[in-house]
Amino acid sequence: MRQFIVAGNWKMNTNYAEGLKLAEDIASGSMIDNVLVVLGLPATHLMGISQLIGKSASIKIAAQNCHYEKNGAYTGEISVDMVKSVGAEYVILGHSERREYFKENDELIAKKVKSVIEGGLNAIYCCGEKLPVREAGNHIKLVAKQIKQGLFHLDASDFKKVVIAYEPVWAIGTGVTASPVQAQEMHYEIRQMIAKKYGTEVAQQTSILYGGSVKPDNAKELFMQSDVDGGLVGGASLEANGFLKIVHSFS
Ligand code: PEP
Repeated sequence: MRQFIVAGNWKMNTNYAEGLKLAEDIASGSMIDNVLVVLGLPATHLMGISQLIGKSASIKIAAQNCHYEKNGAYTGEISVDMVKSVGAEYVILGHSERREYFKENDELIAKKVKSVIEGGLNAIYCCGEKLPVREAGNHIKLVAKQIKQGLFHLDASDFKKVVIAYEPVWAIGTGVTASPVQAQEMHYEIRQMIAKKYGTEVAQQTSILYGGSVKPDNAKELFMQSDVDGGLVGGASLEANGFLKIVHSFS
């Protein structure tokens, strides 16, 4: 059975005290069997919140980025080992904000994915099209290219450590959500691509999350789609009750 995941992406929000309080409020909520909660934290919060959460089977910590090199003269960057050493188990990679504002391309992100997996962590690989691409009907082609370039250098065994987040850029932070049908269509295509490259078993075991204005009132319908295995949640992950409601959309 595939792992269902609800991942929060806090982006550049909350100071440390606010972050601790938010994490405490989330951790004190009830969790659900077979739904993993992943908190995507600012780098400054990783260690403290990891200590707060401890060795939980239902909540894991993610960094929002890392460098592909092991160490060296890369001022301002953090390495896979640094992330790992403070207890995080996931790294969000290729988020559209990293692609847009920091000019990250598939080639760079592919290197990061490899380093994260070689370092023993899990990669949450984000992909998704901008609005003009969808309007031109090229969204599946574009996402297929991102998947191929960002992930298909990996071996089948690496895929155990890959989670994919399909996040149409036009839905991120806009309040406009992809319809369940649009989400399912893309997730199905992604799974077919993985099946073609690595076989049905790998494809069936890969968790594919939807991201883009997931809220407590739309999560259930999205998560009910057969190829949607959960969500990557931005804005709505910053409020504990709402986030926990999204987690409970699976029940
Ligand atoms: C995101 O940042 O990955 C995201 C999906 O944001 P939001 O939920 O706010 O649209």
